[in-house]
Amino acid sequence: MPFPSDLPVVDHHCHLSPTGEGVAAARRFRSAGGTHLFLATQNYTGRPPSSIAEYAEQFEVTERLGRQIQDEVGVVVYSVVAPYPIDLVHVSSSIGLPAALDLQRSALDLAGRWVREHRAVAIGEVGRPHFEVDAATRAACDEVFRHALAVARDSDCPAVVHCEDLDAGGYRAIAELGRAAGLPAHRLIKHYARHYVAESDRAGIAPSFLARRELVDRALADPGPWFLETDFLDDPARPGAVLDLATVPRRARAIAERSSGAVEQLRVPFVDAIRQVYGWAPEIGKGARP
Ligand SMILES: [Zn+2]
Repeated sequence: MPFPSDLPVVDHHCHLSPTGEGVAAARRFRSAGGTHLFLATQNYTGRPPSSIAEYAEQFEVTERLGRQIQDEVGVVVYSVVAPYPIDLVHVSSSIGLPAALDLQRSALDLAGRWVREHRAVAIGEVGRPHFEVDAATRAACDEVFRHALAVARDSDCPAVVHCEDLDAGGYRAIAELGRAAGLPAHRLIKHYARHYVAESDRAGIAPSFLARRELVDRALADPGPWFLETDFLDDPARPGAVLDLATVPRRARAIAERSSGAVEQLRVPFVDAIRQVYGWAPEIGKGARP
């Protein structure tokens, strides 16, 4: 079955580093049939930023790498920026919790500015630690999360949420947090969704499913919106920690070989969900978003 020539092949969440595989990984993605990447920022220095200038520099590294990939590899890259939710936990031990909280708020404001200036398409990852922290830290993390949702609202963009695994109640609770901040559920994405939860149990939130074979097969029958991601970390010290960057295009090709009906279902994660959640959709042959 030939692969539909007008169908983009999109990894909705990955990390790439100039000191990791970087452009070479994007080349692997492209060779496997990938066309568009949502590139989430990350700490590139081995430790979380402790000043707003360091966050600005971090976002700029993401943007530069994305541009280099577009120019040299021909894959369209969308930047997603925000202070990583775990940064607060680490930085508060050196600069104290109040200063760490202020820094997170400023970095989120900066991320919002990037979206409004069309340098990024979403605020992410934002959320809360997926592990236990003390009560004061947890309260600070929750406050930062609320601020992140308000920034997404003000910037008219999605928030890519990093949190523990969610069941129906968990999805409802996140949707409620969004509502309280004025951010509608259709602007919320649960990143790193490792388990299938039916559309009726997601409270309007779009899961970004980890592109494991069983999960993709399960999702194919789902009306959406949902995305596919690898959460590729580009960390040579942790090979196999997450899926390889070539995974999404490989799965897409395998599905196309199986049936033409099934491959049409991939318009849900690669086109329709992006339109529903982001408000625009990638198109083959068009560089940036409309
Ligand atoms: Zn990530």
